Amino acid sequence: MIRTRFAPSPTGFLHIGGARTALFAWAYARRHGGQFILRIEDTDVARSTPEAVQAILDGMAWLGLEYDEGPYYQMQRMDRYKEVIRQMLAAGSAYPCYTSADELEAMREAQRSRNEKPRYDGCWRPETGKRLPAPPAGVLPAVRFRNPAEGVVAWHDLVKGPITIANAELDDFVIARGDGTPTYNFCVVVDDWDMKISHVIRGDDHVNNTPRQINLFKALGAPLPEYGHLSMILGDDGQKLSKRHGAVSVMQYQEEGYLPEAVLNYLARLGWSHGDAETFSMGEFCSWFDLDHITASAAQFNTEKLNWLNAHYLKQADDSRLATETLRRLAGQGVDGSGCADLPRVMALYKGRVANLNELADAAHPFIVAVHPSPELLAQHLSDPVRAALRTLLAKLLDANWEAPALSQAIKETLLQHGIKMPQLAIPLRVVLLAQPQSPAIDAVLEVLGREAVCGRINSVLV
Ligand code: GLU
Repeated sequence: MIRTRFAPSPTGFLHIGGARTALFAWAYARRHGGQFILRIEDTDVARSTPEAVQAILDGMAWLGLEYDEGPYYQMQRMDRYKEVIRQMLAAGSAYPCYTSADELEAMREAQRSRNEKPRYDGCWRPETGKRLPAPPAGVLPAVRFRNPAEGVVAWHDLVKGPITIANAELDDFVIARGDGTPTYNFCVVVDDWDMKISHVIRGDDHVNNTPRQINLFKALGAPLPEYGHLSMILGDDGQKLSKRHGAVSVMQYQEEGYLPEAVLNYLARLGWSHGDAETFSMGEFCSWFDLDHITASAAQFNTEKLNWLNAHYLKQADDSRLATETLRRLAGQGVDGSGCADLPRVMALYKGRVANLNELADAAHPFIVAVHPSPELLAQHLSDPVRAALRTLLAKLLDANWEAPALSQAIKETLLQHGIKMPQLAIPLRVVLLAQPQSPAIDAVLEVLGREAVCGRINSVLV
């Protein structure tokens, strides 16, 4: 059974890189008919917040990354970690260490001055025939893992290929602090073991933890998962992706008017490919996804491509869904658009012309409330001959059959009567009706706006 997990630490928003990790772990489980588990790694009490947990849950829900189990919270599993620590102490695979923080610092300082890599010197590590110092009174010991002293840790990383680390490189790391709280690498292993994770798919900022975690698995006699470490995501400029690059939080993409399917499709192509396929559904993605086609090198963010995908999915999106989104965004600006029955038709008119949902909401605005073109804009576009033409048009529109072909006919007759060309009338008309000189086909705009709004707005600039 394939079981993957996403294990974010709730110390901030759901980062776009984290979302890609979640997407790949999710897709791998879906591809193989397995399970995807959400685990919140909240043991860093000082940095974890309930808001960040919520941001993770919101981001996953928005993207539609449904999990089959969880969310599990590490803080709720403390008893289990402590139980495993007791078992390891009893089995001799872990031992108490009384070295104080000051002593550790002095040890590291001395090592650095000898140009050695700073590491725990093993003074409390039990060895046959070795006499340990007497435990200092009143000191609560940390617990250290007894890492194998010799040999290597090797695994075939599903993304990076074979990796081998000499055990001599790894010191005996702390698995529980003096106050009894278990440490990060330890909790991850107990969780991955208990949750029967078959494939650990995570960012390559964790690749240095993997040899320690594998040694822990072995010491526990637990079956080893497979590991795949995803390369990091770089910004448009090739630097590590950060806030400087604009949106990095998944929910910020929502705010900026991206559709979740565009973000998902975009993330799926960040470091993974399936032939030339650029646009695909999540169903297709799950049926294609494998770890063999992930690039080991860093993936570079490309905002233009994301925008292109967003425009692509906007064009395809259902009009009533877009109308619901638009209403929500307008409500956020204090505009109540619920009375606008034709909003889906407005969406159909504009969805192929905008880059995001916020632009779509802006475009819908004049269809919901009367616009007030500025006096400068009116002065610029409404010459006397134009006013005269608008007056003729208004008379025709008052009793025209309210359908695009008849409206178009009324415009054409007006042009003929006044001896002017289409833009000379259509552009001022757009300014009057929408407070902007560009729009989709003018007859379609008239049709959707409706007789009352059209005639009322024209009339208001003529009186
Ligand atoms: N909690 C870790 C993080 O947010 C992930 C740990 C893991 O995937 O093993 O970076």
